[in-house]
Amino acid sequence: MFVIGTAGHVDHGKSTLVEALTGINPDRLIEEQEREMTIDLGFAWLTLPSGREVSIVDVPGHERFIKNMLAGVGGIDAALLVVAADEGIMPQTREHLDILELLEIPRGVVAITKVDLVNDPEWLELVMDEVRERLQGTPLQGAPIVPVSARTRQGLDTLAEALDRVLDQARLRPDHGRPRLPIDRVFTIAGFGTVVTGTLQDGSLQVGQEVEILPRGLRGRIRGLQTHKRKVDTVPPGRRTAVNVAGIGVDELERGDVLTVPGWLQPTVRIAARLRLLPGAPYPLRQDSALDLFIGSAERRIRVTLLEGEELAPGATGWVLLRLQKPVAAARGDRFIVRWPSPGVTVGGGVVVDTHPGRLRRFHPATIAALEALARGRPDDLLYQACQGGPRTVSAAIEASGLPEAEALAALNSMQEQGRLVALLPPGEGWTPSTLLLTQEEAERLHRRILHLLEDYHRRYPLRGGMPKEELKSQLRLEARALNDLLSWAEAQGTLAVDGAVVRRAGFRRTFTPEQQAQVDRFEQLLRRNPYAPPPRPEWGIDPAVLDALVEEGKVVRLNPEVVFLPETYQEMVRRVLEEIDRTGPITVARVRDLFQTSRKFALALLEDMDRRKLTRRLGDERVRYQGDRTAGDPQDSG
Ligand code: GDP
Repeated sequence: MFVIGTAGHVDHGKSTLVEALTGINPDRLIEEQEREMTIDLGFAWLTLPSGREVSIVDVPGHERFIKNMLAGVGGIDAALLVVAADEGIMPQTREHLDILELLEIPRGVVAITKVDLVNDPEWLELVMDEVRERLQGTPLQGAPIVPVSARTRQGLDTLAEALDRVLDQARLRPDHGRPRLPIDRVFTIAGFGTVVTGTLQDGSLQVGQEVEILPRGLRGRIRGLQTHKRKVDTVPPGRRTAVNVAGIGVDELERGDVLTVPGWLQPTVRIAARLRLLPGAPYPLRQDSALDLFIGSAERRIRVTLLEGEELAPGATGWVLLRLQKPVAAARGDRFIVRWPSPGVTVGGGVVVDTHPGRLRRFHPATIAALEALARGRPDDLLYQACQGGPRTVSAAIEASGLPEAEALAALNSMQEQGRLVALLPPGEGWTPSTLLLTQEEAERLHRRILHLLEDYHRRYPLRGGMPKEELKSQLRLEARALNDLLSWAEAQGTLAVDGAVVRRAGFRRTFTPEQQAQVDRFEQLLRRNPYAPPPRPEWGIDPAVLDALVEEGKVVRLNPEVVFLPETYQEMVRRVLEEIDRTGPITVARVRDLFQTSRKFALALLEDMDRRKLTRRLGDERVRYQGDRTAGDPQDSG
């Protein structure tokens, strides 16, 4: 499940569009739940044309609600940028775009709303061009731009399709087994008690689980979980989630706290980070400036130590230490935004590299080098990333990780042992540089999909022995080598069987209907009555698919479309022809015909088959025993 976040200038029609798409008014939803008027994150959900269900976080556009937007976008997979056709790009459109960029929201769709208000098609073109231009060089460059009207519903279907297409490229949120829920709302529901909401990251939550609220250090237990108003027992990463927590009062919590499992996340007041100042920031950032930090759903007053200079210029990036007045529960890799407190304006953002740095000296090359090494990532994470999106060879993964080989190999070994990475190998064998690797999630996904395709194939073709590999290959869009390795790996797990060029589900057996079985019985009788000269094809009385199945199973030998024998007959004929050659020398078609009192058609088919199998060789009108390939040294060729 993916989360889409809206962005755009106030009054450009975000909420109205979300309601038109989903039938849910996010503002009303919150009012109902909290029974009070708050302007805060709203969320709604919808099913896209592909059947994929997505959450939409609708963040209000007014400048003073920027912090709400931050709380919402931290966990989004795609942006829905809204620009009103009658106004075009406005100041908050720009600020939201900056924030999307700083948070590296990787994809999105632009909706040009209120097109019913614009009569002039040229004006609409102009607005679309302006948007296209503004997106140049941002992660949304080239994003689909769809004109819509919530009022007339024009373009809404196209918009839903565009969202679907964009999400095709999104990756499911990884499950690192460390669930974190940055809390964006806290409220009570009569009869249930405390409820918190947020977008779940890095792991899943279960009912009954013990949880910790940070930075407060409170402990509680999950009494209930909901996503999209449905009660569930467990929630995977990436979902909008409401958690009903027992043991913690609503007034003990606030937005910005993080719900997680106890024992691993340590709140901090010092964060080492890479900070980028927006090119449009009004002045350079000076050493020890006071800023507002927005991270997850939290907001903190901070001071910034510039580690590399006395100033950071607009558009520049540098290493910094963020010193917080109050602790926050953040993790490595989290993105953040900084704003000037007054007048409130977004000036930059970056990524957390160390939440508990040791002493950081300013103007000190070794300090910077250590931070840079840390920024490149832990070997595990780098390799995991390198393997995402499909099978990679060991050597390609190591190269993409940028790690020294020895370190990479050690990490690969331990990740394979933990099961985070899957090497496509028969069990017990060690990998080589060309062995293919998959993330565990991807391996499981492909495995499930293969089994599903096979089951579907067996249902459609119950008489065929299996699905051709070629067909699997094109369905899965895998290279032949990757497919073969994947199949061998799955075969070793006992879920399927590879049989030459076809693959079947383990335990699959062809089943004939009673009618087909009767055909088979009659046909076999027919062959037994005239083993050397069965009647011609029109008299066989068997469905071609049933006959194919018999041939595949080896119950009938088919020499050509017109000539079939029982296997025992065929073997006997081959044996007797060879004996006859040994006894009396080269043999003709006519002699074979007489030997079995059959017709020329069958005798010829048999001999041609024996030639193909290199049991005999044709010399003029006769066959002799095959004696191996003639070589260059053969005296007949040298004359
Ligand atoms: P938000 O602040 O971006 O969420 O904007 P709203 O959804 O609250 O919409 C602002 C105003 O624009 C409201 O008065 C809406 O009725 C109006 N509006 C929204 N969408 C459309 C549309 O497609 N056509 C027209 N004519 N008006 C719209």
